[in-house]
Amino acid sequence: MRIEEQLFLRHVRQELKLAGYELFISKGKYVRDKDVGPSSGIFDEGGKRLSIAVGAGNWILTLAHEYSHFKQLQKNTRAHRVHDKCKANIWNWLAGKVEYTPDVLNRCVLTTIMMERECELFAIKELKKHNIRFDVLKYHRQANAYLYFYTFVQKHRKWLSPRKYSVSELIEIQQLMPSKIKRSFKRMPKGYEELVLTYCI
Ligand SMILES: [Zn+2]
Repeated sequence: MRIEEQLFLRHVRQELKLAGYELFISKGKYVRDKDVGPSSGIFDEGGKRLSIAVGAGNWILTLAHEYSHFKQLQKNTRAHRVHDKCKANIWNWLAGKVEYTPDVLNRCVLTTIMMERECELFAIKELKKHNIRFDVLKYHRQANAYLYFYTFVQKHRKWLSPRKYSVSELIEIQQLMPSKIKRSFKRMPKGYEELVLTYCI
């Protein structure tokens, strides 16, 4: 681990601790939390815990992302507040336990995308502030790939398979993405859905 990464990890742990949150580090590729699907990192607001899988590709970027969810909460940003009002539970909907009208579902997906988009912008700022070496243009492409995934989920009612690729790590998907973080994710690029269905689900 590079010295900058060590310092950033220490900073995150301290900031979380001050606010009464704990940092959980897993050596595996995925972490799980309650009924949330497998992921390389999870910020659990209610459980006051940030979990990170250091066995996953570029875990320092995931750490910056999950830590940025914590920052959104601390700052009480508009994107965070609006998303909080959306009462639909995507995980229960994915599991077929609950149904929502297209309107409710659409609002929930849109507020999730806007909240995650803000989180990505915060994460980039954090990484730069802590001198973490990373490829900014690649980060933008990966963020776009991830943000489009919520539109995919809304349409296909499917989540990632832990045995397959994540949407942001697949080169073929990255190549379809613009190198600037988009504002709208309604229209998925041609070929995106097919790649996700083949390699990620
Ligand atoms: Zn997130």
